Amino acid sequence: MNLKELILKIRNRFSPHEELRDEAVLGFLRVLEKVREEEAPCSEIFARLDEYVENELHGQDTARLMPLVKEHLDMCSDCCEEYEALLEVLEKTDEK
Ligand SMILES: [Zn+2]
Repeated sequence: MNLKELILKIRNRFSPHEELRDEAVLGFLRVLEKVREEEAPCSEIFARLDEYVENELHGQDTARLMPLVKEHLDMCSDCCEEYEALLEVLEKTDEK
């Protein structure tokens, strides 16, 4: 989802006469900040996390194969947690 779509989507959630509550505005700002900070949105990284972990477990050079994912994991704690959890699960699966 690009930024323009995101803004339209959020705007459409409020009728024109409805006053924006502080909470809603703050939430909106937080989303914008997140989009600006990250090169790739978390949803995109999540979608490729399986592939990334598989590659890593097979000894592939993931930093070279999927640099965007690697970069994102380095700066996004949410995705990094997800990645570590996935890695742990797959490592255990491989042991069997
Ligand atoms: Zn993320």
